[in-house]
Amino acid sequence: MDSPVVPSGGVLTPLGVSSVRLNPGFWGSLPTETIIDHCYEWIGRVGWAANFTGAARRGREFSDSEVYKLMEGMAWVHDPRLDELTSVIAAAQQSDGYLNTKWGHARYSDLEWGHELYCYGHLIQAGVAQARASGGGELFELVKRAADHVCDVFMNNRGVCGHPEIEMALIELYRVTRAERYLEMARRFIDRRGTPALADIELGRAYFQDDVPVRKAEVFRGHAVRALYLAGAVVDLAVETGDRDLLDLVERQWERTVARRTHLTGGMGSRHNGESFGEDWELPPDRAYNETCAGVASFMLSHRLLLATGNRRYADQAERTFYNVIAAGPALDGRSFFYTNPLQVRVAGEVTSGVSPRADGGLRASWRAVSCCPTNLARTFAALPAYVATGTDAGLQIHHLTPARIEHDGFVVEVDTEMPWQGAATLRVLRAPDRLRVLSLRLPMWAGGGTAEWSRVWAAGEEVSVDLRMTPRWVEPDPRIDALRGCVAVERGPLVYCAESPGDQPPLTRITVDTSRAPEVVDEEIEVDAHLTSADDRPWPYGPRARTETEAVRLRLRPYYQWGNHGPATMRVWLPQG
Ligand SMILES: [Zn+2]
Repeated sequence: MDSPVVPSGGVLTPLGVSSVRLNPGFWGSLPTETIIDHCYEWIGRVGWAANFTGAARRGREFSDSEVYKLMEGMAWVHDPRLDELTSVIAAAQQSDGYLNTKWGHARYSDLEWGHELYCYGHLIQAGVAQARASGGGELFELVKRAADHVCDVFMNNRGVCGHPEIEMALIELYRVTRAERYLEMARRFIDRRGTPALADIELGRAYFQDDVPVRKAEVFRGHAVRALYLAGAVVDLAVETGDRDLLDLVERQWERTVARRTHLTGGMGSRHNGESFGEDWELPPDRAYNETCAGVASFMLSHRLLLATGNRRYADQAERTFYNVIAAGPALDGRSFFYTNPLQVRVAGEVTSGVSPRADGGLRASWRAVSCCPTNLARTFAALPAYVATGTDAGLQIHHLTPARIEHDGFVVEVDTEMPWQGAATLRVLRAPDRLRVLSLRLPMWAGGGTAEWSRVWAAGEEVSVDLRMTPRWVEPDPRIDALRGCVAVERGPLVYCAESPGDQPPLTRITVDTSRAPEVVDEEIEVDAHLTSADDRPWPYGPRARTETEAVRLRLRPYYQWGNHGPATMRVWLPQG
């Protein structure tokens, strides 16, 4: 099965990348190949591939992982450059399996910050991708030697990595090889956390989820990508060991995190400090961090929870995150990328050339000193077909509506739709076995929720259809989210909308919106009634409410994922009511 995650148990079974063909449409037209080419070029340009050949080392301590994530993407799409990169990294592997370009002189001397095990995690996921997409190869052999080395060194000491990631990878390698030691190694890494296993640091042990044991935690906290990768591994461990209590626990952690620590876009990570989750209800739109990689990690976690439980709610969250964080990451041309994804940008960004040293800045950058996000998008988009649908003995379950041809067990269904622009979709049976098959479709929460099911002995050519309500809607925040009180946002279908400043838009800091009239669809954009307040500053911005002159205007909103593609701009999702 050529899918990034193939659990041994659980309610739903994933389909492989090769079982789903994405046709032209939102998912199928993402610039996947361009992103892979772009990452390949930049990894060469900044010397991160040459690090493996003994050249003077360049890049941060985790730069090896960017090469591996790119290789994982290449493995899913059968890119021939995978073999070339495999030869490059193989030259740096030592005889006992050790492989890292930064720490060879001082192995495992800095588990808090060194990222050695984290890098193995991405390496192993790339090898798993090759094994599943192509039945094995040189990379997969190299990966098993590296994983065996990790087990040899870490099985009986107390070490863990400052950045969780290897846990998910080891469990997936176990799923491919059935070698128990990989599962056991992952279990020990997970159980050691919070005992504590790492030194205390300035950001506190919660930063790397070493503050309390996984089984005692109530919510995701600390560095968002770390927390979400760890949670993904905990789901995997619970499924492989049949530990229902552990699965229930991570579901409760997820529920509280989604209910209290997640932005409207699905973005996770409220704080720039430590790239971390905030406290409950701490969700400022302008200071939101929402790393693109945290969106990828959340999408991976939601998918695992969907497979484990069959609960369509997880696919709802995956959808929100996909359209409004992951899709926002790359520019429409696939050649520049956001690292942070705030819901308000007050000052238009400055165009940078070359490698940007900053995570934020209000504009996408071609490459950054920390360029984890582009390669994470590359591997996610390359494997995207595997996220669309699942199969069981009874039939086929479609979780995300996008044009596609889906095949499972002799049952072939073609999906025709213009989502997310139109709510109509037709599911056409191209081929069906001569027995009862249940075709099911998740109906998103925004369309009323639930599942549509059609159960019958199908004939080729039969079709069923749905028409989801695509009326734009006003959305209000929970009043406990202090930073958003008095504001509204607009959604349509799975898309969150935002106001962006270029063109003839009124200044976004002086806008209030009038919610008495429904938002109106104009092409791919939305228009709402608004008031423009006078620009006069008071010498002191507090005191009795000032009376201000206002002028009625129309405000245009575009899908959030599209923002920042039209030059430097200010932007906001949440609009004050007035
Ligand atoms: Zn990132």
